[in-house]
Amino acid sequence: MSKATRCDLIVLGGGPAGSTAAALLARAGRRVVLLEKDRHPRFHIGESLLPMNLPIFARLGVLEQVAAIGVEKPGADFADATDAGHTTYAFARALRGEYRYAFQVKRAELDQLLFQNAARAGADAREGVTARDVQLDDSEVRVTVRGESGEDQTLSARYLIDASGRDTFLGNKLRLKENHPSHRSAALFAHFSGVARRQGDEAGNISIVRFDDGWVWLIPLREDITSIGAVCRPERLEGVRGRETEALAELLAGLPAVARRLASASQVGPARLTGNYSYRSRAMTGPRWLMVGDAHAFIDPVFSSGVYLAMRSAERAAELVHDVLHRPEREAALQAAYAKEVNKGLEEFSWFICRFMEPTMGRLFARPNNLLKMEQAVTSLLSGDVFEPGLVRLRLLAFKAVYGASRRRDGASP
Ligand SMILES: Cc1cc2nc3c(=O)[nH]c(=O)nc-3n(C[C@H](O)[C@H](O)[C@H](O)COP(=O)(O)OP(=O)(O)OC[C@H]3O[C@@H](n4cnc5c(N)ncnc54)[C@H](O)[C@@H]3O)c2cc1C
Repeated sequence: MSKATRCDLIVLGGGPAGSTAAALLARAGRRVVLLEKDRHPRFHIGESLLPMNLPIFARLGVLEQVAAIGVEKPGADFADATDAGHTTYAFARALRGEYRYAFQVKRAELDQLLFQNAARAGADAREGVTARDVQLDDSEVRVTVRGESGEDQTLSARYLIDASGRDTFLGNKLRLKENHPSHRSAALFAHFSGVARRQGDEAGNISIVRFDDGWVWLIPLREDITSIGAVCRPERLEGVRGRETEALAELLAGLPAVARRLASASQVGPARLTGNYSYRSRAMTGPRWLMVGDAHAFIDPVFSSGVYLAMRSAERAAELVHDVLHRPEREAALQAAYAKEVNKGLEEFSWFICRFMEPTMGRLFARPNNLLKMEQAVTSLLSGDVFEPGLVRLRLLAFKAVYGASRRRDGASP
């Protein structure tokens, strides 16, 4: 703990968002302290990435390293639990079609390499250091941290980026965190070996299997590991704590489309339970601070958007902080633009996520219609291509109109 106590900015949290922001700002010449309470490598959920992550990895200079730890993911397939076949959305069919695959990774490996990349870029990257308190005033930010020896220290900076993920450090301190008003989910998951993969070119697909109470993911990873998890309403997983392995096995055994692929499989490592995780912070910026990634909001993993949205917001945050440290008078305007852009991506995904379990949406996903290139636009959404105006967004609007009309035909309010 005898390290520098003053810097330009503190990045709180060494996951994908924090390590991205820290690397870019350190590379731009800023004095950055990056704090991570755990030590890498450590387990984290969130293993299926999107094609739009690739240009970010390239800009960070880690694309080859990520390729070396990843399984290529050419698309996402959707099925129902009865095992009556699946529908594939291949990224190669996305409207812009620039990035034809993504990666699926063990997060312990990805997060470690991103953290090391931040250190290589010049960030003072500290592990085993937990931020415990923060004071924000007109002239500086002070963060009280505790190291593994139990000793406290206060760090001061001109700016704070909160990248603390679902710990939502500032959201809790400033009482900004709110549960999502309508969407509630919990998840139960584990790694398995010996799981049957899709055939041929689809072997790297993420599979999403819908059932009455939720949906299951199957994510192929390296070394014959497959990540499998069930996402349900929190009530469905009540009473599971303490018997996670048995509960997951029972749940998966009841779904023919999953059970078939698990016929020769065995669980590797513990099963884990995550309680209701759908939330958002009422604000994502304030004087001398901003939030990136899950520190601001997380809704649901069904479209594997979490890591991409986290890293993209971190890139934008890095640009903003670099600018504001140079020209503080621009802070309010830059923060407003940042919040608008982050919300745009979040809202596009949220619209689909909040309707994913409805029967009408299930049908539209199972039997995609490419009239007006709507199916390709949904593939673009699944690739993460939701920020650019134009082509994709217009076609997603057409999809939403078709969805509304189908809902009315089904006798439900849109
Ligand atoms: C069940 C489930 C499945 C998911 N599946 C996917 C998926 O397939 N694909 C996908 O893209 N996303 C998925 N996600 C979402 C994904 O996990 C997150 O969106 C992503 O990890 C966000 O990155 P982040 O850097 O914002 O936060 P995190 O990755 O959570 O990193 C935050 C870091 O901050 C550290 N930290 C927290 N508090 C402190 C503190 N006080 N002091 C110091 N350090 C601190 C933590 O230890 C952590 O390392 C899933 C989420 C859930 C719940």
